[in-house]
Amino acid sequence: MSVPSILPIADFPVRVLTRQMLASGLLGVIQSGEKVSLFFANTNFVVQCRSLLPRMQDESVVIVNDGIGLNLASRLVNGQQFAENLNGTDFTPYLLGQAERPLRIFLLGGTPRALAKAEEHVRSRLGQQVAGTCNGYGDLYDAALIARINQAQPDIVLVALGNPKQERWILDHRDVLSAPVLMGVGALFDFWAGEKSRAPKWVQGMKLEWLYRLALEPRRLMRRYTVDVVKFFVLCYRHRQRYV
Ligand code: UDP
Repeated sequence: MSVPSILPIADFPVRVLTRQMLASGLLGVIQSGEKVSLFFANTNFVVQCRSLLPRMQDESVVIVNDGIGLNLASRLVNGQQFAENLNGTDFTPYLLGQAERPLRIFLLGGTPRALAKAEEHVRSRLGQQVAGTCNGYGDLYDAALIARINQAQPDIVLVALGNPKQERWILDHRDVLSAPVLMGVGALFDFWAGEKSRAPKWVQGMKLEWLYRLALEPRRLMRRYTVDVVKFFVLCYRHRQRYV
């Protein structure tokens, strides 16, 4: 069976890509000066970003699959799996590592404390240039911020505000920002800062990282992994017939 380039999940056009394909595509975009907005779709994204879907139906918006929920849903509604699991936490350092020169990164989001540590991580551990930073708790719709980001001339703006804030912010600003690549990266700065810990590799290997996060933050995440996961599968089921 040939693999299509898009597997629709609850109407979101999710691309079928390996991390290698995605990284070389983005690095090409940085070289050519085109523009791409990249979103990692997990079950929470599909539920929380529903109202933004019409604004994501655009060639320059790239949505990729993040997590076991998306793969399971795709097997159920499309009868096909994605090529690889692509999440921002693993993919971003991979992307930076594939570049031939240090890239200019603007970090937007997170608490001031996590952001400062993430900035240090990007410089000293990942060997990239930090073009600028802005924490995620001020006025992110201030025109001065947009001017500051453009003046910093980043290759990539990493936007870490959680769903759906980061997606809305990117969609609201992608036309006025000159950076070639905008990426919604969730809790990435907290991981880089060491403020949140990743699950051990064997837990990740068993596709149970979500359970690990739930165990660490049950109050915050319980709804996301119960009610919202049911909502996610209902959405996938409801919207399946247009494609099968
Ligand atoms: N965040 C932020 N501003 C906000 C809300 C969240 O900067 O108004 C940051 C938060 O500090 C964290 C990141 O967004 O670093 C991701 O938040 P969350 O943990 O909710 O994301 P997820 O669990 O979806 O990855």
